[in-house]
Amino acid sequence: MSAMHTHDSSSRQAWTPESWRSFPIRQVPEYPDAAALHAVEERLRRYPPLVFAGEARRLKANLALAAKGKAFVLQGGACAESFGEFTADIVRDTFRVLLQMAVVLTFGAKVPVVKIGRMAGQYAKPRSSDMETVGGVTLPSYRGDIVNGPDFTAAARIPDPARMETGYFQSAGVMNLLRAFAGGGYANLHQVHRWNLGFVERSPLAKQYGVLAERIDETLAFMAACGLTGATTRQMDETEFYTSHEALLLPYEQALTRIDSTSGEWYDCSAHFVWIGDRTRQPDGAHVEFLRGVRNPIGIKVGPSTTIADLERLLDILNPQDEAGRISLISRMGAEGVQKHLPPLLRQVMASGRTVTWLCDPMHGNTISTVNKIKTRSFEAILSEIRGFFDVFEAEGAFPGGVHVEMTGQNVTECVGGAHRLTEADLGERYETFCDPRLNAEQSLEMAFLLAEELTA
Ligand code: PEP
Ligand code: MN
Repeated sequence: MSAMHTHDSSSRQAWTPESWRSFPIRQVPEYPDAAALHAVEERLRRYPPLVFAGEARRLKANLALAAKGKAFVLQGGACAESFGEFTADIVRDTFRVLLQMAVVLTFGAKVPVVKIGRMAGQYAKPRSSDMETVGGVTLPSYRGDIVNGPDFTAAARIPDPARMETGYFQSAGVMNLLRAFAGGGYANLHQVHRWNLGFVERSPLAKQYGVLAERIDETLAFMAACGLTGATTRQMDETEFYTSHEALLLPYEQALTRIDSTSGEWYDCSAHFVWIGDRTRQPDGAHVEFLRGVRNPIGIKVGPSTTIADLERLLDILNPQDEAGRISLISRMGAEGVQKHLPPLLRQVMASGRTVTWLCDPMHGNTISTVNKIKTRSFEAILSEIRGFFDVFEAEGAFPGGVHVEMTGQNVTECVGGAHRLTEADLGERYETFCDPRLNAEQSLEMAFLLAEELTA
């Protein structure tokens, strides 16, 4: 980028892991006991990193490929992970569905799929309101398990710094399992495809989804006949899997930020990829200042209220050298808004010659409340936003980099629609999310099949 673009970052004071503390900050919990907070931060600072800088750099290189249409990103997981749901089954099921989706999408997109879980650290939540009123009682909002508790009691809602330490150890536990699953044969391509065949058999749309499954089946049979199996080929047995979460709770992120011994640069070692949410992306705010100095690949949520001027400033500050793979812009415009709000931003980025990876978050612009005040999203609206996103890229002659979804491997009933035709009346069945409604296992797979059909069409 030209000198003009570096103006913003060079006019700031030098970055340090704590320089964010002198910037205005939003969505910050007020800890009642400063000494306790400080003690936890001190301990976290000495704990081992959860990810390594070299891994984050590899992900960055993969994201750079996605910006050029040479890879496709699948980022998914719960809106909020929960301390209570810390079991091998829950981690395994989400991981498995992401792999199943990835196989179908690889076939559809004909490029490698970059797999990123919203896992192993997705514990902090921004809220639209600081307070919540239920039945005449007003309490501080729940801000995710790493801050306070979801129970509607005064005690649970007090921010507790000890939760940061719990978050760290649980992230380490999830990460350990993910590393084992990714490298230990669980990701075998033939196995993952067998799971997909099981999904197709159970689906009311078995006939439709069967066509694609059959084509993948033939391809795998051909590969096996050529001798490409797990026993002979690492690529058939192992996968690269990355972690991500919203970098919201800055005392925690700061404590996990370390100098990489190879490059001498700072990395936030709480996850490979961290993103700035739609509520904390003020160019002059603390969250942007923090992420400016870490070298991880980072995401920025862009919503209908994002202006061209803001986006330009954010890119100036966060990626002054215009490094490919550094920035993923995560568009969350809503099915109704994507055709209107996305093109001007996309055109501006293209005209400025910058390199970014564009992801579609089809969840956060499509949240609705039922008459009974239950938050839900419709499968059809989610799919429609992704289709609109693809259309915009096609019209502008640019590459859509991938998708970012809220999903789970469990058979919850949180989003309506899909082949099983979940209705609002079904939501009470298994509504388990601690925050936003997620696609369940079947809905997630369906989405992958429908997108793959589209990509091969
Ligand atoms: C989220 O990803 O859960 C979230 C809060 O998104 P956004 O910042 O886009 O609203
Ligand atoms: Mn969410």
